[in-house]
Amino acid sequence: MIWIGISIGISLTISMLVPFPVSLVAIIGIFILLNLYMRKRMMRKMGGGMFGSMSSMFGENSLKYYCMSCGTKHREAACPKCGSKMKRIGS
Ligand SMILES: [Zn+2]
Repeated sequence: MIWIGISIGISLTISMLVPFPVSLVAIIGIFILLNLYMRKRMMRKMGGGMFGSMSSMFGENSLKYYCMSCGTKHREAACPKCGSKMKRIGS
């Protein structure tokens, strides 16, 4: 959203500084460049987000399981200490 404001500001400045036909060409050029730049940024951001969600799905780095009866941190189906299957998710 900031980029839209920036590009509008740039185009206004250009239209004030240079005569009409030149400014139009310059504005179109800047819009294309900004679009390319934004797309590159978005792609990188989206890629990072996808990777982040993938790693949280498979890696489970942020999730820790604690036994509800004895509080032991474990990742088994049942608690290795007391055998309870009740678990809570903690961070
Ligand atoms: Zn336990």
